[in-house]
Amino acid sequence: MRKPMIAGNWKMCKDVNEAVELANEIKRSVYDVENVEVVICPPFTNLSDVGEMLIESNIGLGAQNCYWKDEGAFTGEVSTGMLKSVGCKYVIIGHSERRQYFGETDETVKFKIKAAIEKGLIPIMCVGETLEERESGKTMDIITAQIKGGLEGFSEDYIDTLVIAYEPIWAIGTGKTATPGQAQEVHAEIRKILSDLYSETFASSTRVLYGGSVKPENIEILMKEEDIDGGLIGGASLKSDSFTDLIKSTASLYAEKKG
Ligand code: PEP
Repeated sequence: MRKPMIAGNWKMCKDVNEAVELANEIKRSVYDVENVEVVICPPFTNLSDVGEMLIESNIGLGAQNCYWKDEGAFTGEVSTGMLKSVGCKYVIIGHSERRQYFGETDETVKFKIKAAIEKGLIPIMCVGETLEERESGKTMDIITAQIKGGLEGFSEDYIDTLVIAYEPIWAIGTGKTATPGQAQEVHAEIRKILSDLYSETFASSTRVLYGGSVKPENIEILMKEEDIDGGLIGGASLKSDSFTDLIKSTASLYAEKKG
């Protein structure tokens, strides 16, 4: 059975003091949760301090982005080796905000996934359609193209740690959540794409998270869907109460699912 993951994307929020305080609150509140993989992804400037705080905790540290070169004249960029050196285990790649505002493409996503895997980081690859694409019936084409483009040339053994996050762009930060049915339909399609590209085993063992206005009030109905393995959480990860509620609900739902 796939272990659920709850990953908090703090985006460009929290200075270092606020970040350390929030990480500490979350750590204290979920120290005994075992069956959910918990990840927090603060801004680059806070990774080192938050990383220290998370040593020997059950929370993993993630970055929100990376560059694919090891080092050199790439002003403003951060390599996967640098992320590893401050304790990161995960990196979000191809978030829709990166694609929308910073020119990220399926090809740069592919380079970044390779750079993450080469350094032993777990990539959390984001895919998702705009409202216009959904309304014109293009959702599955967009998701297929993003997955094929981002994973082009990789074998299933190479990407065996990969996590995919389905995040409909129209649901991110808008308060509009996809219905469980809408999300499940895309998650099932993602597994079908992975099965066609790789194998049934790979498709059924890869975790696929849902992201887009997930909050304590809607996590249960989403998590009950067969192919939803947790969430990538923006807004609700910025407060310890809502984030830890999400983690604890996911943990009890998982225990129920397991029987
Ligand atoms: C996100 O940042 O990936 C996200 C899903 O944000 P929110 O939960 O705020 O919609």
